[in-house]
Order: sequence, then C-alpha cells, then structure tokens
Amino acid sequence: MIDKAALREKRWHTLESHEVLVTLQTSKEGLSHSEARKRLDIFGPNKLPEKVHINLRKIILGQLANPLIFILIAAAIASILIGEPKDAIFILLVILINTAIGAHQEFNAEKSAASLQKLLRINSRIIRDGSLQRVDSEELVPGDMVLLESGSKVPADLRLTDVNNLEIDESFLTGESQAVFKITSSMKKELVVADKKNMAFAGATVMSGRGVGIVIGTGLDTEVGKIALNVSHGESAKPPLILRMEKFTKNIAYIIVALSVILAVLLRIQGMDLSAIFFFVVALSVSAIPEGLPVSLTVALAVASKRMAHRNVIVRKLTSVESLGSCTVIASDKTGTLTVNQQTVKKIFLPNGKSFEVSGEGYNGEGDIYPAGYGEKVLNLAIVPELRQIIEISILANEGGLENQNDKWNYHGDAMDVALLGLGYKAGLVPTEIKKTFPLLGKIPYESEKKYAAAFYQRGSGIFCGMKGAAETVLEFCIDPEERGFSKESILKQAEELSTNGYRVLAFAENKADSFQQKAHAREEDIPTLKFVGLICFIDPLRPEAKSSVEKCKKAGIKVIMITGDHPATAANISRELGIQNDDKPVITGKMLLQAGNPDEEKFKELVLSTSVFGRVSPQQKLEIVDVLIKSGEFVAVTGDGVNDAPALKRANIGVAMGSGTDVAKDVGAMIVVDDNFSSIVAGVEEGRFAYDNVRKVIYLLVSTGASEVFMVLLAIISGLPLPLLAVQLLWLNLVTNGIQDKALAFEAGEPETMERKPRKPSEGIFNKIMTIQILLSGFVIGIIAFGYWYYLIEQLNMEEEHARNLVLLFMVLVQNVHVFNCRSERKSTFKISIIKNYWLIIFIIAVQALHISSMYIPPMQDMLRIFPISLNDWVTVLILAIPVVIVMEVFKFIYNRLAKDNDELSRKKHSILA
Ligand code: ADP
Ligand code: MG
Repeated sequence: MIDKAALREKRWHTLESHEVLVTLQTSKEGLSHSEARKRLDIFGPNKLPEKVHINLRKIILGQLANPLIFILIAAAIASILIGEPKDAIFILLVILINTAIGAHQEFNAEKSAASLQKLLRINSRIIRDGSLQRVDSEELVPGDMVLLESGSKVPADLRLTDVNNLEIDESFLTGESQAVFKITSSMKKELVVADKKNMAFAGATVMSGRGVGIVIGTGLDTEVGKIALNVSHGESAKPPLILRMEKFTKNIAYIIVALSVILAVLLRIQGMDLSAIFFFVVALSVSAIPEGLPVSLTVALAVASKRMAHRNVIVRKLTSVESLGSCTVIASDKTGTLTVNQQTVKKIFLPNGKSFEVSGEGYNGEGDIYPAGYGEKVLNLAIVPELRQIIEISILANEGGLENQNDKWNYHGDAMDVALLGLGYKAGLVPTEIKKTFPLLGKIPYESEKKYAAAFYQRGSGIFCGMKGAAETVLEFCIDPEERGFSKESILKQAEELSTNGYRVLAFAENKADSFQQKAHAREEDIPTLKFVGLICFIDPLRPEAKSSVEKCKKAGIKVIMITGDHPATAANISRELGIQNDDKPVITGKMLLQAGNPDEEKFKELVLSTSVFGRVSPQQKLEIVDVLIKSGEFVAVTGDGVNDAPALKRANIGVAMGSGTDVAKDVGAMIVVDDNFSSIVAGVEEGRFAYDNVRKVIYLLVSTGASEVFMVLLAIISGLPLPLLAVQLLWLNLVTNGIQDKALAFEAGEPETMERKPRKPSEGIFNKIMTIQILLSGFVIGIIAFGYWYYLIEQLNMEEEHARNLVLLFMVLVQNVHVFNCRSERKSTFKISIIKNYWLIIFIIAVQALHISSMYIPPMQDMLRIFPISLNDWVTVLILAIPVVIVMEVFKFIYNRLAKDNDELSRKKHSILA
C-alpha cells in the first residue's frame, strides 16, 4: 500500500531516480492498469477544484438585477396602494415569466458552453504496463511515467528520469521568465522550487526537447495545488458584442425614460390623472426597451458555438464566434490542414545514381521496394548496402513508433517518422532490432525551426551520427561530395525538382563521430561533418474537401494564404492544385523575407502582400507576416500547432489551434479545429457569419416592435386621442410577442447566400444602414396602421374605448408575430425561407396566438387584460391590416437587393479595369 501522507513529506529532488521508482513502487514500465485504478481511488483525480461556473441562483439574480424589474416592482407596489391588486398580480406575473424564460435560456447557454469546455481537456502520453498510451491528464496518479515533448503542458509534478535538451518555462510558478534547462541527477541541498532542476511542475510548459518523468504529486498535492492558484483558464468575460448590446440597451433605456418624462407632461396637460400616467409610462418603457437583448444574444452565440462544435470547431471564448464571421484572411498551415498528413514514402534516391520506388499505402509495413525501372522487388538488402544505410538512419534518427500487434498496426509520433518506420518494415528491417544493433548514445530531436533530426549511435566499434531533414539544412552539415561525382548544387536541384512535382523530400547523411561522448544533451556542436547518403520522397495527399473550401473562401471574399515550413516548390505545387495561387505570382521564402530587412519597412510589407504562398518560413517570420497583414487592415485567422506558433496565434485576430497540435498552441488559440482540417475552419467562418446574422435578426425584431409601439402612442398623443392601449395591455403585448420569439430567432438556420457576400468590416457597427432603415420603416408601418385603426374606431365609428382597445391589442399581437417572419432574413424574401427550418419559431408563434385568443374567452384573463371575443367581421379586418407590413418589407428587400447588385457590378467593373 502506498501512503499518501508519507509521499507529501518526501524531498524528491534529493533522491536518485531509481530511489524514486522504489518509493513509488513503480518501474520504467510504468504502473499496471489495475494499480493505476487503485491509486486513482486513493489520490483522487489530478485536478484542482474548479470554481463552479454555472450557478442558477446567480443567473436568476442577474436577471432580476435589471432597472426595468425595479420599475415594474415599483409599479406593482403602487397598484396595491391605489387599490388595484389585480394589476399588481399581473405585473408580478410578467416579472416571473420574463425572468423564468430569460434564466432558462441563459442557463442552457452556459451549460452548453461548459460542456464544450470539457472537450478541451488535456491528454498526457504515459507508459503503463510497458506500453505507450494517451490518457486524460485527470487520470494521472503518483508513479505514472509521463513523456514530455516541446509544446506539452506538464500535467502533474514530476521527478525527471530522462531528459534530452529539455527546457521548461516555469514562469507562472517562479516568476522566472527564462526557461529552465532540466537535468536528472539528484540534488542534495534544500532548494526552492525554481532551483529544483530535476523536477517538472504541473502547469509549466515544455519549450523544447524531450523528457520522461515520474509523477510524484497530483491535484492539490502539486506545487500549484499547494498555493491553490487556479490555473484553469475558463475565462468568463462577456463577449464585446454582448457588452456593446448591454450598453445599447441602457442607452435606449435612458432615451425612453427621457421620452417618458415628456410624455408624462403631455398626458398631464391632456388631463390624465397621475397614477394612470405613471402606469402607462412604466408599461411603455417596458415595451420599448429591448431588455431581452443581451440574453438573446448570449443564446445566439451559444447556439452558434454548439453548431461549430458539430462541425469540428471548438470555440474557447464566445467572442470568437463573433469575430470568425468578420475574418478576411485565413493564413493556413500546409501539412495536415490542407493535406491529410498521411505521409507515404514513394521514392528513394542514392548518391550513386541508383533510385528505388516503394509501394504500399498508409501507416503499415506492407509494401515493397523496387529498383526504378525494373519489375523485380529488392529481396536482399545486402546487395545494395547504400540502401540499407539510408533506411537504418531513417530508423535511428526517428522518434516515432510503428508496431504490428495482433495483425493491427499501431503507431505514434510524427507522420514522417512513422512513414519511415513503415519503409523499414518494407525493407525487411524491424525497427526495434535495428535500435538494438545500433545502441543509441544521443539524440537531437526534430524541432520545426531547426528542420532536422539527428542521432548518435554505436555502429560496430565506432560511433556514428546520422541525420535526416530538409535538403538545404542537411547539406549544410555535409562535405562537398565533389570527389564522388556530384555537387551540393545538383542534389539541391534534384530536391527542388522533386518538390515541384509534389513530393515532400527529406535528405539523409551520416558520418563517424568518434569524439562523441554518451550524454543526455546532444548539441548541434557535436555533429561532425557528414556525408550525404540520399533522398527519400514522400507523398502527402491533399484533403479532398480542401479545394472546394478554398473556392468557398474566394466567393466569400476571404483570402487564403498558405504559410509552410516546407520547400517552396512543394508549396507552389499544392497552392496551384488547390487554386490558392497560380504560378504567375511568386512563392515568398523565409530567405527573401530576411533579405527584405526589418518587418516595419515598406519593402517587407510589399513582399508579404505580393503573394499568397510562403515557403521555408520560420515561426518568427510567420508572426511577422501576420503582423503585416493585420496592420494593412485585414482581419486574420491563423492556424498553428507548435510551441513556436504561439506568438502568431496570439497576435492573430483569431488564433486557430490544431486538434493534434501542442497544448501550448491550444492554450493560446481562440478556437480549436478538432480534425485539423482547413474545411472545418471555413465551416467555422460560415457559422460565425450565420451567428452574426441571427444576432441582427433578434435586434431587428426587438427594436422594431418597440419602435412601433412608441410610434403608435406618440401619434395618438399628438392627435389628442386617448391612449390606444392600457398599461397592462402593453405589458402583455411585450410578453407574448417578444418573450420567446426573439430567442427562437437565435436558432435560425444560416442562409447559404451569406457565404457569397464580402466579409463585413470588423469596424462596422450592428446598426448599419440596412438595419436602421428596416427598423424605422417596419416600426413606422406597424405604428401608423395601429394608430390609423384606433383613429378609425374612435373617431369614425365612435366605438367605446374598451372595445377599440381590445381590437387594437389583438391587431398588435397579430401583426408583431407576423413581423417575426420579416425578421427571419435581412435580404431574402420571407417566402423563400423554409418554414420548417425553424419549427420552434412557428410553434412558439402559434402557441402565443392561441394563448392570446383563448385569453379573450377566459373570464379571469378577460378581466385582467380587459379583452373579450370579437365578431368575424372584426377578425377579417384585423387580419387584413396585418398584411401591409409584410408587403412593405418585401418591396424594401427587393429594391435593396437590386441596388446592392448594381453596386456590386459597378465595383466589379471598376476592379476589372484596375486589374
Ligand atoms: P509544414 O509547414 O508543412 O508543417 P514543417 O515545419 O512541419 O512544414 O516541416 C518543415 C521541413 O522540416 C520539412 O520540409 C522537412 O524538410 C523537415 N521535417 C519535417 N518533419 C521532419 C522530421 N520528423 N524529421 C526531420 N525533418 C523533418
Ligand atoms: Mg508541420
């Protein structure tokens, strides 16, 4: 049994690593599954207590902490004081229902946001039962063996047992911004956390290198846990859009209050009594203030983030839903994003001029090697020792794993590495045996800014260094092979040619490294001058959907840019095939950017803006490119996966981390693309635009119906007529026409046309021209018809006020629910939008109508609302009066679209003249 309390007392950094293994009753093979499960029961999950994110009580209180509610409560109290308890009950009912609807929606929105956060859990690579596995970091227990690599987050407190150039950023814990170079030997003294160099602490990030450590503390028993620092990054700040809308709602509230004061004075002059004025002003304010706006918007964004999750895009902050919609440039990686990252070795070229072709698909050892041009496969590697040599190097300078277990090929690691192991099997070499034959003495792991990997190993009696990597890089380490009948230039030319044909090319080299001493941290200085031993070519197929997604972006006015660390010729080939850029524009390379000088200089900017394809670019240059784009007014989404991509992801307007990427990238990215797929990013942009459209629909509905009521009342007052609706009636109207419909609009399906329009300017406000015109126009049309009806009933028919109000209220309930259909699209005819696409909306509207109509027949409701059944004739009139607003808005949309099209054509013509 392992003793929890005793472990806490241990001074792990003073123990040798084998002592740590003994103390924790574990071994280099890791724990067994059953032991791990037992320990999980004892130690609990490896997490810090989360602050409770969703709190229903808080949501309800938030709903109630609204000035409007205070006004209503005051009104209810006033009703009781003047002896109208019925009105008071009604007002309280309105508060109750409004709060319930709002709280329910907000709760749901937050719940779905929280469930998405769960998908963001961090996984760890560990060894259990002697094999490599991926587990949720929360399942780690003391004694687990954890593997670290650049970009990973340290999942628990570890005592390191193996390091290879391991550097860890512990600044969040120690305040020390310099990454710490880690060691494995025991340290004797009492040390502060920052000096325990043989340990890694939960929450820190691996900046470079590789390492293995034994978990010595989890959850609250880690250093972070001890200082109870909450490293959970569930940022709950409200999105700017919602903040803007809250402000907008407040501003409207002020205007309404000011207006109400004027109204009150006018009504007083007309001789209305004070308490009636008070109630009326209260009711009108409630109707006209779009108090449901912030909640409806939260709902709209939450709906969108859920839809995005279905399309493999996980948004870390609701904000990004909004910003995705206004993206004007997507700067994408190549490998894995535009291609499937299923590397397969196709060709091998040896320096003696011999070349080979390789058959087989996918990550397995099934396939053969053929001499180019001959049908017979290579059966005996001994005949071609040079071929054997390059394959051996590819297995030794390799960090991947590929194994056939029970007829199933299991693999892990970098795609190129796995593909090379597959090649080994095809040549009849078993990687684990090769590694035994040539014991490893040191390694320089692959990091994307170095573009090579190297290994030091025993070969016979000598020590050798083997290297694989980008051709230019590898050749820099090589002696000029002139005496062997070819030159570096010819090799580079060959690599270039192969790249042009769409191959990904790796160069290989090897030489004696006798002075090398076995050590944990092999360095670039240890690499001797090498001899070139050949090229291996890979094919990485394009993602089948990539081309149509690039097309879609073009239609949507979004520029697609490819930034890759790969060879410019490969980049050009792929960009041509995907339609990103033709050969008429240059591929800009990292070298060209360097020569262009300072990123602030005009020359640099021009160079960046002159192309859509960048090759052999370093992560730092990626950041500079993004910077130039943003400064030139673009709204940029950038993809990234490595540690070094973090700055670019941060700088971008929308940082897109890859699902397969490092923890660091995922940490700084605003969104995560689960399947790494470019098409998913485009889907995210699409959903972002849909969400923004829906937000506008909600605002349109709420503000225009409020405006219509204000228009109606103002017109009545100006013309000296009595008020068309009573206070309770206005409250009721507000409840049955806005209470649910606005939220239902948040669920509208997107309109495909949205992706055929240019991106909206990020600086553009919600209330642009079309929105303002539509709100005023529809509000005015409804308002004037309602007023006209009232005027006709009172002045022409001399109808009793009570009867006339009954009719006007019915008309308003009806027309506002009809108007919801106008709001379903800003530009498209409402008759062209499928009814069933948003059946909730339809159901709500029918329910609300049924509610109002049945209330006309139910005595207590009749009493409270002063409503009653009407004649068939009146029904016909009311229904007919509800139609014009649809006609007017349809005509408006038609004319607007016409003008927009003309404008578009005009600008296109201008453009083509310029071009
Ligand atoms: P990309 O932008 O396409 O993802 P990378 O940055 O991953 O490109 O790779 C850049 C270059 O580094 C490749 O063209 C290749 O030459 C080299 N390279 C990639 N992976 C490895 C590896 N595992 N070992 C050695 N070299 C590699
Ligand atoms: Mg890559």
